[in-house]
Amino acid sequence: MDHTVLTTTDHSRERAGLRYVYPVLSRRAGGLSVGVNLNPNNACNWRCVYCQVEGLQRGAAPSIDVAQLQGELEAFLRLVLQGDYLQRHLPAGFQVLRDIAISGNGEPTTAREFAEVVGTIRRVREALGIGASVKTILITNGSQLQRAHVRQGIAEMGALQGEVWFKVDRVTPEGLWLVNRTRVSPERVERNLTICAELSRTWIQTCVFAWDGTPPPEAEITAYLDFLRRLRQRGVPILGVLLYTLARPSAQPEADHLAALSTEVLDGIAQRIRGLGFEVQVSP
Ligand code: SF4
Repeated sequence: MDHTVLTTTDHSRERAGLRYVYPVLSRRAGGLSVGVNLNPNNACNWRCVYCQVEGLQRGAAPSIDVAQLQGELEAFLRLVLQGDYLQRHLPAGFQVLRDIAISGNGEPTTAREFAEVVGTIRRVREALGIGASVKTILITNGSQLQRAHVRQGIAEMGALQGEVWFKVDRVTPEGLWLVNRTRVSPERVERNLTICAELSRTWIQTCVFAWDGTPPPEAEITAYLDFLRRLRQRGVPILGVLLYTLARPSAQPEADHLAALSTEVLDGIAQRIRGLGFEVQVSP
């Protein structure tokens, strides 16, 4: 384990020298986020054009050694909670454990052991007496909710008062292909999101950005707002929308074409979402 201070721009999965567990200084949360990476093979079933994973490949998570994961998580959290890890590695003002986030170099719910991993996190939290102020978060593209074991894992998230951050960037077939390089249908996205929100507290996470200097087309934004309006009308219990733009460069071939949106444009989109009655948290 190295002894340097973490920065918000350094999200290297290797910082703690572990296979599944990595520390991140989270600007958003104002402290330490302990990441759980189920995709050490850099494999995802999608290929979002803004994805920051270097060497991203199409595929699923490898088989997970859950006992090793549990050992790494427990040992690392002990350093954080009982040792001086926070003082040695985090700058002043950030020396607090904020969350445990299943979020790695690919889609975590493609792991066959996904539900088992969530159960493991619950047991480690209980063993170490970690209270509700430290969240458990799952960051997912939501594409695997049709699988029973994934629904079971999401239900486990619900049982431990976790939060799912469910990616919805575009909701037209063309937009889903352009931005996320997936052929999943918008209807499937809506169905999966509904299942997810009924099992666990769920935020929609949306990334918007400029492509060759142009913000998302109005037709795409309108389709997205219509999608949200429908969720509202159907009473799907969404906590709100986490709206963000590119914070770090894409590692994909499209990288040179993509840029962050101005705060003004981002705020404009946020206002339109709020107009539908959703809470919106904007990360510039
Ligand atoms: S779903 Fe996540 S990991 Fe997969 S390509 Fe998109 S941003 Fe990358």
